[in-house]
Amino acid sequence: MTPVWTPVTDRVFVTTVEPHAVNVGLIVGDSAAMLVDSGNTAEQGAELLASANERAGVPVTHVIVTHDHGDHSGGVAGMEGVTSIAHENLKAFEPTRGFSMAVAVDLGDQRVEMVNFGDAHTRSDVIVFVPGERVIFAGDLLEQGGDPQVDETTSLSNWPTVLDGVLGASQDETRFVPGHGTVVDRDFAFIQRAEIAMLYSQTEMMIQQGTRLEDAATATEWPFTAETLAVALPKAYAELAAKGIEPKRQLPILGL
Ligand SMILES: [Zn+2]
Repeated sequence: MTPVWTPVTDRVFVTTVEPHAVNVGLIVGDSAAMLVDSGNTAEQGAELLASANERAGVPVTHVIVTHDHGDHSGGVAGMEGVTSIAHENLKAFEPTRGFSMAVAVDLGDQRVEMVNFGDAHTRSDVIVFVPGERVIFAGDLLEQGGDPQVDETTSLSNWPTVLDGVLGASQDETRFVPGHGTVVDRDFAFIQRAEIAMLYSQTEMMIQQGTRLEDAATATEWPFTAETLAVALPKAYAELAAKGIEPKRQLPILGL
């Protein structure tokens, strides 16, 4: 594997690694550089680091891991001598530097700010802002070319609020690097935020109308695939049940 680094700006690059087509970012300053995510395995991480050093022309000193999923975190094990940064809830490895809310790193003249706005895709999401380049690495908070992915650690109720924070810190011309897929603009991010919000609010409305989980996927038009809904709807029902919002027991229909 020889990573091909595609420019997002003069000093921000992205490459995509398999098997999950995960995006790995490279942010370059005048004296140092930083990787955003690390690939799947130690071997992949080492290859990414070597090619990033070459592409950057300055040493890669840091790697930020956007969240606790193996396709983003697994390569750190192959990046010896590099300072790893991650949210304190990340469990995949012991980062050199864990943080709870925000941390910044200066790569010489390039400042990188990393923020956690609360639970969303996982409990360890980090959004990476590169203000000087007007680029935001969104991790899997945004997905292009496929649906946003839900697992047991996801907060569907809070995810739109987190994206509001991301969007609020962006500008019209900001470019967003999603966890998977091509670079997107602010309109794309707004639309995906609305779709994720719709998943939760529509589920709440359907529950109040008595729709049961097994009927939810076909009860309305969703902006997601059946495969995504098979995971996301049970999660939405579970989050709402935890707030006491559950389908009312239906009375048996008599006289049929
Ligand atoms: Zn993920």
